[in-house]
Amino acid sequence: MTTREKEELRQKMLDQIESLREEIRSHEEGSKPVEPDNAIGRLTRMEAINAKSISEASLNSARTRLTRLENALKRIDSDDYGICSECDEPIPVKRLLIMPEATRCVRCSE
Ligand SMILES: [Zn+2]
Repeated sequence: MTTREKEELRQKMLDQIESLREEIRSHEEGSKPVEPDNAIGRLTRMEAINAKSISEASLNSARTRLTRLENALKRIDSDDYGICSECDEPIPVKRLLIMPEATRCVRCSE
């Protein structure tokens, strides 16, 4: 990996971390408890509960991804960043640019 590619990856991670934090913040707004005697009626309340569980699921996946990205950012300057944890081969930069938090190459993660 060249220094330039590494800088590009670092920038990607920072951007993605920033937008995930943003996403988490807006989900947290959306996952406030649904009022029990909601004046808008039963059906709307069911819809509100559905929307809430969807937003909790995406909140959880956003949090998981955020943690992975933050860890990847800490590892980016170490020698084992970009090396597959299973086969010890370098992970292609193309893959890292899509998924900077990847710790395994495509073959090993299948
Ligand atoms: Zn591998």
